[in-house]
Amino acid sequence: MRVAIAGAGLAGLSCAKYLTDAGHTPIVLESRDVLGGLVAAWKDSDGDWYETGLHAFFGAYPNMLQLLKELGIEDRLQWKEHTLIFNQPDKPGTYSRFDVPDIPSPFNVIASILRNNDMLTWGQKLRFAVGLTPAVVRGQKYVEEMDKYSFKEWLERQGIDERVSTDVFIAASKALTFINPEEVSATILLTALNRFLQERYGSKIAFLDGSPTERLCAPIVDHITAGGGEVRLNAPLKEIVLNEDGSVKHFVIRGINGAADYIETADCYVVATSVDVAKVILPKPWQQMEYFQKLEGLEGVPVINLHLWFDRKLTDIDQLLFSRSPLLSVYADMSNTCREYANPDRSMLELVLAPAKDWISKSDEEIVAATIAELEKLFPDDFGGENPAKLLKSHVVKTPRSVYKATPGRQQYRPSQKTPIANFFLAGSYTMQRYLGSMEGAVLSGKLTAQAICESLPVANASNLQTLTRPPATNAATA
Ligand SMILES: Cc1cc2nc3c(=O)[nH]c(=O)nc-3n(C[C@H](O)[C@H](O)[C@H](O)COP(=O)(O)OP(=O)(O)OC[C@H]3O[C@@H](n4cnc5c(N)ncnc54)[C@H](O)[C@@H]3O)c2cc1C
Repeated sequence: MRVAIAGAGLAGLSCAKYLTDAGHTPIVLESRDVLGGLVAAWKDSDGDWYETGLHAFFGAYPNMLQLLKELGIEDRLQWKEHTLIFNQPDKPGTYSRFDVPDIPSPFNVIASILRNNDMLTWGQKLRFAVGLTPAVVRGQKYVEEMDKYSFKEWLERQGIDERVSTDVFIAASKALTFINPEEVSATILLTALNRFLQERYGSKIAFLDGSPTERLCAPIVDHITAGGGEVRLNAPLKEIVLNEDGSVKHFVIRGINGAADYIETADCYVVATSVDVAKVILPKPWQQMEYFQKLEGLEGVPVINLHLWFDRKLTDIDQLLFSRSPLLSVYADMSNTCREYANPDRSMLELVLAPAKDWISKSDEEIVAATIAELEKLFPDDFGGENPAKLLKSHVVKTPRSVYKATPGRQQYRPSQKTPIANFFLAGSYTMQRYLGSMEGAVLSGKLTAQAICESLPVANASNLQTLTRPPATNAATA
């Protein structure tokens, strides 16, 4: 069966990969000249990579880890020490660590919290532990019910003081969703906390050993192509044309550089774009249907990713860092964390600026200047004094609409991958799956879409479908 998929982000590629495994022929149509969507990366004229986002992988990403294993590229993940490291804004240039010992969960995470006395008082730890109990005992059902509250409201309801939310969870909230704790749905942080508490290596972090475009997306494309499928760049979906019964007749693909538009016909069709693109591209007659109307409740959140190259080494830390600053979210010295970007003499900081709504329309110069001002607090020794670190060059990548904005009440708007149209499906990290807008969520959504397609249409290779639907069994234990 031929399946046309619009979008070569991780969701579209994962969908195509699993369709290939089930004996189908996916044709992935990507609007841009680069693979990966939100994980896309480019090489500048010096040969240095810059990316849409600083991407951290977690042990609690079973579907991503299984995908890498199936492709034979799991060794491309560089696993870091099992610890979470936070800057201390009141003690510039110092760090507070949550070192997770190698003992069974949830004792490992609990031990890391109990042993950290910089960020939480004993009273706060106790209240937080009591507050978290229903999430651990009642599980995902309770976590989903908490979608009506922001995380800050949820903390208040547990009697946990505001300082915990502004001081500690600002970092986690911005890292996971690019918005602050007063804006983010409690479901998001509780889901992440639950995974970290339930999986021994859930909070262990890895970095890819090079650019996601080459090191992650390209091998998925090779797999799809080897199985008879195709991934076509510069092929933007322009229109979804319908049959009289409301099902999809064909995709119209916009011709690039003066070429004529053309028709792409398949047995089945998938839109694996962001939710913002999906909303505008859906045919008018469908927009009256309740299923598609719900998409109006979702929209992408702005975020900015910066790369700053310096004339010296600013840090030797080989790990993701949580800035706890109002401007920045997470950052890493990629000259330490990523094999292909390694440099023993100079730092390349990759930093996420979030929330970005007030910054997205500012110039790159303004954004870099504000970030450097923030770095003076994070690295006072290198930016104060007579010989401050010199910025050699920078790249700023702005994404005005990235992952769906995970404010309270959004869960009800996240659609299933199966739609009311028999030959039409959705994929994307915004669609309903147990993970938030993340690489894991994108890979899982694509897999669920492939599964829904195989279930609703004749299956070419039933044994492979069985593999597809079997729950994943892999983790970061061996790393
Ligand atoms: C700054 C930043 C940092 C992040 N950090 C992390 C992290 O540390 N860990 C993590 O797990 N996740 C992280 N994420 C989130 C993660 O990148 C996304 O959740 C995931 O990549 C989304 O994949 P997707 O396939 O659902 O959507 P997308 O990546 O948005 O893919 C959609 C694709 O559709 C294409 N498209 C759009 N319109 C059309 C059209 N008309 N025709 C054809 N194609 C079209 C787009 O070009 C794109 O390639 C981060 C994201 C950003 C932006």
